[in-house]
Amino acid sequence: MAVDYATHDGVAVITLNNPPVNGLGHATRAGIVAALERAQQDPALAAIVLTGAGKVFCGGADITEFNTPKATQAPLLGAVIQALEQSAKPVVAALHGVAMGGGLELALGAHYRIAARGAQIALPEVKLGLLPGAGGTQRLPRAIGLARALDMIVTGTPAMSDTLAQTALFDKVVDGDLLDAALALARDAGARPAPHPRLRERAIEQPDAAACFQAARDRIAVTAKHFPAPHKCIDAIEAGVLKGFDHGLAFERECFVALVRSPESRALRHAFFGERAASKIADVRADTPTRTIARVAVIGAGTMGGGIAMSFVNAGLPVTLIEADEDALQRGLATIRKNYDATLRKGKLDAQAATERLERITPSLSYDDLTHADLIVEAVFEDLGVKEQVFRRIDALAKPGAILASNTSTLDLNRIAAFTRRPQDVVGLHFFSPANVMKLLEVVRGEKTAKDVLATVMKLAKTIGKTAVVAGVCDGFIGNRMIEQYIRQSLFMIEEGALPAQVDRAIEAFGFAMGPFRMSDLAGNDIGWAIRKRRYREQPQHRYPTLADRLCEMGRFGQKTGGGWYDYQAGDRTAHPSALVDAMIVAHAQDLAKQTDIPRRELTDSEIVERLVYALVNEGAKILDEGIAAKASDIDMVYLTGYGFPLWRGGPMLYADTIGLAEVERALRRYAAQSPNGDAWDIAPGLVERAAQGRRFND
Ligand code: NAD
Repeated sequence: MAVDYATHDGVAVITLNNPPVNGLGHATRAGIVAALERAQQDPALAAIVLTGAGKVFCGGADITEFNTPKATQAPLLGAVIQALEQSAKPVVAALHGVAMGGGLELALGAHYRIAARGAQIALPEVKLGLLPGAGGTQRLPRAIGLARALDMIVTGTPAMSDTLAQTALFDKVVDGDLLDAALALARDAGARPAPHPRLRERAIEQPDAAACFQAARDRIAVTAKHFPAPHKCIDAIEAGVLKGFDHGLAFERECFVALVRSPESRALRHAFFGERAASKIADVRADTPTRTIARVAVIGAGTMGGGIAMSFVNAGLPVTLIEADEDALQRGLATIRKNYDATLRKGKLDAQAATERLERITPSLSYDDLTHADLIVEAVFEDLGVKEQVFRRIDALAKPGAILASNTSTLDLNRIAAFTRRPQDVVGLHFFSPANVMKLLEVVRGEKTAKDVLATVMKLAKTIGKTAVVAGVCDGFIGNRMIEQYIRQSLFMIEEGALPAQVDRAIEAFGFAMGPFRMSDLAGNDIGWAIRKRRYREQPQHRYPTLADRLCEMGRFGQKTGGGWYDYQAGDRTAHPSALVDAMIVAHAQDLAKQTDIPRRELTDSEIVERLVYALVNEGAKILDEGIAAKASDIDMVYLTGYGFPLWRGGPMLYADTIGLAEVERALRRYAAQSPNGDAWDIAPGLVERAAQGRRFND
C-alpha cells in the first residue's frame, strides 16, 4: 500500500507509505485522492492530516517511474494538489525529515502546515534543469515571500524548517510529537467554519518586486549562461506576480513542458542518473559484504600521493604516508601544508580543522608502518620495475584482507596484481590531479579483482566524495585513452592548416574549460612526449603528428618553461599566441602539403569541434565494444567529472546521441576521406552498428 488511511478521534490520517522516500509514484498519487474522497464521505470526520511514514514526509517524484507510462498516468500531481486544495474538510500537512520537490508542492496545496524542527524544505528541480511543475513557483512565494522563494527555487538549495518558522509556510514548527501536534491543529481547524486558507488566494507582498527580479537575474547571468531553467524559474514566478495565480500556474506548466524537452535538462538528468548508475556494477550485488576500511597507507608523497592522502584525511580517515627518501617526504608534507594554508586563507576551512587533518597524517620512511592499514594506495613512479618492487614488499607486509591499490595511469594492472600472492585484493584507484580536488576516480577492475574489493572501494569513493567509475584494464583506461585521440586530432589539424589559438577558441566556445593546446601547456608538453616515445616503440604502425615532438625538442614544455604552444610572461598564466611557434607550424604544414599534394587549407570552427568531439566519441564506442566501460553513461561521467566536458551537453556519448549516430558516422567518413590524416580514423564497429540500427549509446 503506497498510502495508509486511519482515523483518530474525528480526524482522518492519510500517510504516504512508499519507501524509501514516499515518492509520488502513480499508486501514491491515486491513493491520496482515494483517501481524501473517503474522508469527505465520512460524516464523523471534521479534518484531515497528511503525513509520511518512516523518516521523511516526501522526497518528491518517484524516480523509479521516470520514463515509464506510470509517470504520466492520471491523477497527475497537479490534480492531487487540486483535490487537497478543494477538500471541504481542512487538510493539515505534517512535514518531517524531508519535504522536497513534488513533496513540498503537495504540502503547499494543504490548508495548514506543521513541521518538525530540522525538516529539510526544498524545491530542487532546477538542479535537473527543470522548474517545480505543480504550482511550486506560484505557491511558495505566497508562503515565504518573493525574495526568499526566488532564492530557494532558482538555486534549489534546501532550507531548514526552523528558518521558515515565522513565515506563512508553517502554522507551527514543533519539537515534540509531530502527529499529536498535527491532530490538535486539525481538530482546531475542523471546528472553524469554512473556507479554510488557501495559498493561491494569498497576496505576494513585495513593494520592490521589479528590483527583486532584476537582482535575481543579475545573480544568475554568469552561472546560468548555458542553462535555461534558472531563467524560467524567475519568469514563472514573475508571471504569477504580474498576472495572478492562474495565469502563473498555466505559464509554469508551459515552461515545465519546454524544459523537460530541452537538451540541457536531458543532460543534467543524464548526469544525475549516470552518477547513481556508475556506482552499480552489474555482477556485483548491492548486498555484497564490504571490508572495513579504518586505516589507509599511501606510498609515495609526490604530486599524486599527497593529494590522495588529503582526500582520505579530509573524510576523517587516518593515513600513513610512506616515502622512499626523507627529502621527498618533507617536500610532500610541505605541499600538503601549503594546500591547507591556501584553503584556510580562502576561509573554506578553520584552523582547528586544518590542524586535525594534518595530524591524521603519519609520515614514515618505513614500509613496516603499513601493516595496520586496511587499504594501501601505491602512488610511486610510473615504472613497472619500481611498481614490482613496491608491490612485492607490500604483499610481504600487508595484513590479510587488506586492499592493495595502484594509482597507475598506464601500466597493466593485471601484471601489477601478479607481483603479489593475492591478486584478488588488488585494484586500480586512478585518481586525477589534483587528487584532493578532482571528483573523478577511475576504479580499475583487474582480471582477478574480488567482488567484495570492488564493492568496498565503490563505497569508500562515496565516503571521500568522489564519483567512481569502473574501468577495465587497458592503456589509459577510459579517460586518458579517449583524450589521446582528441589530442592526436588537434595535432593533425594544425598540420592541415589550423593554429593552436583557433583550435582552442573553437572548442572552448563549445564549452570545454580549456582547449587541448592550453591544456598541454598547463600539464607540461613533456608528459605527452614521453608517452609518444613509448608509443613509437610499441605501436610503430600508429602514425603520430610530429609537431609536438618538435616543440619539445625546442625545450618548450609549456607554462613551466615560460613557453609551449603559446608564450607566457613570468607569473602570468595568460596564453599569448607565439609568432615563433605559429611560423614553425605553418612551415611544417607547407612541407607536408608538398609531400602529400593536399594543400594547406583553412579549417572551420565547426570542423575543429566535430573532429575533436567525435574523436572522443569514436574511441568511447571502442571502449564500449571492448567492455572497458560497462555503459555509455559511465564514459559520460568520466568526461563530466574529470575532463571538463560541458555539463549542459551531458558528456560525449550523450552528445553523440543528441546529434544522431548516423550523422556522426557520416561526418567521420567525410573527414576520413578528405583529410591527409584520414587513415587515423578507424571507425568503431559499435558506432557503425548502432547507427545502422537507429540506436543510441545511451539506450
Ligand atoms: P611523482 O614523481 O610526483 O611522485 C612519486 C613519488 O614516489 C616520489 O615522491 C618518489 O620519491 C616516491 N617513490 C618512488 N619510489 C618509491 C618507493 N619505492 N617507495 C616509496 N616512495 C617511492 O609522481 P606522481 O605524478 O605523483 O605519480 C605517481 C603515480 O600516479 C604514477 O603511477 C602516475 O602514473 C600516477 N598518476 C599521475 C597523475 C598525474 O597527473 N601526475 C595522475 C594520475 C595518476
